[in-house]
Amino acid sequence: RNYTREDIFEMIEEEDIGFIRLQFTDIWGMMKNVAITPGQLQKALEKGCMFDGAAIEGFAKIEESDMYLFPDIRTFEIFPWRPQQGKVARLICDVHRPDGHHYESDPRNILKCAIQKAAEEGYTLNVGPECEFFLFHTDEDGMPTTLTHEKAGYFDMGPLDLGENARRDIVLTLEDMGFEVEASHHEGAPAQHEVDFKYDDALTTADNIMTFKLVVKMIAKRHGLHATFMPKPKAGVNGSGMHINMSLSKNGKNIFQDPEDKNGLSREAYYFIGGLLKHMKAITCLTNPTVNSYKRFVPGYEAPVYIAWSMQNRSPLIRIPAVDGEETRIELRSPDATANPYLALAVLLEAGMDGIRNQIMPPESVDLNIFEMSEEERQALGLEKLPMTLAEAVDELEKDELICKVLGEDLSTKLIESYREKYREYQQQITQWEIDQYLHKM
Ligand code: GLU
Ligand code: MG
Ligand code: MG
Repeated sequence: RNYTREDIFEMIEEEDIGFIRLQFTDIWGMMKNVAITPGQLQKALEKGCMFDGAAIEGFAKIEESDMYLFPDIRTFEIFPWRPQQGKVARLICDVHRPDGHHYESDPRNILKCAIQKAAEEGYTLNVGPECEFFLFHTDEDGMPTTLTHEKAGYFDMGPLDLGENARRDIVLTLEDMGFEVEASHHEGAPAQHEVDFKYDDALTTADNIMTFKLVVKMIAKRHGLHATFMPKPKAGVNGSGMHINMSLSKNGKNIFQDPEDKNGLSREAYYFIGGLLKHMKAITCLTNPTVNSYKRFVPGYEAPVYIAWSMQNRSPLIRIPAVDGEETRIELRSPDATANPYLALAVLLEAGMDGIRNQIMPPESVDLNIFEMSEEERQALGLEKLPMTLAEAVDELEKDELICKVLGEDLSTKLIESYREKYREYQQQITQWEIDQYLHKM
């Protein structure tokens, strides 16, 4: 929103704001915040709000631990679920070094740099996400479980759909916070839901994804439920994805459309797809950054497995929705909501722009169901798989110079090291599946 500083101070007065949360996102995609009172806001806007960067895992080294939060006044929103007297508002912030420069590993800054680079060539990325999540029961101690009494499926409604009231509240709260919610529905698996909000420029959408996750979790809690964006909380049913719809605009006009083309797509759209496919394996490390993310990439659960694009089919990684004109877009179906949205959108934009800059034509679209093909047929088409584990994805990230460059040396090194460590830790676990398989028999 186009607020001025005066607007902010006026709203604080009129709305009886008691606290302002200064928010930012750490490199793992977790939202962090510090609260200030309205009396401190003027100073925070001018000089930034100092915090100990060294205490934020993954941020600055000890010797330069003083960091500053600079609020972005366009992000002012009131938390509708907090008290109505002495209300709580939030401002999303950029992270600066003591010398006044942007902190180069601040995820929001990394996305802003990618956006700026594309803007210099006249391009704006628009993004619309489709966030899926589960609403599970909590136990007597209030701890989350993976239990549900629900048996509803895709587009079902009450009384089968036990999450109806929570979902309604989620949508109303989002609308209170300025979201335009386009659709909400029960998803394929029991207790699984989806809420779609309107596309916006990449930075606004990344901010919105962070706010969305917070709202879903807060409101679910009020209904005695636990909301989780964990990609595959249960074996045997669909996991939760966060499909990312993308288009580029130039001078306010969607330039992915071309009515003359047999698929309705412009050269830029093809090149963008070409760039995405070229860097897809490395990108996957950012769009799917948890060990559990890779449990989603199995056949039979509406999630992608093979690297391909399609005009007609839902099985591939990239799908072209059947819309035209200003709505023309491409849909990437691999990401999940454990991604840091700032980093994910930054690498997607740069990969797509690499396609445009170097005129990378994608291979032919695959318009048959890949899962129904034989292994020979897939090989004949040269279809490769997405990385099947976080370890594989990390190796791919390390090999991809362009994607590492988008993240910067400091951040890419940190992410590579820590994701490898996570995977090592995971590999040392003995799972229930192994116990069930081998303890008795072997
Ligand atoms: N939940 C599915 C996934 O894991 C996607 C279902 C859909 O097409 O919306 O990606
Ligand atoms: Mg869905
Ligand atoms: Mg979709």
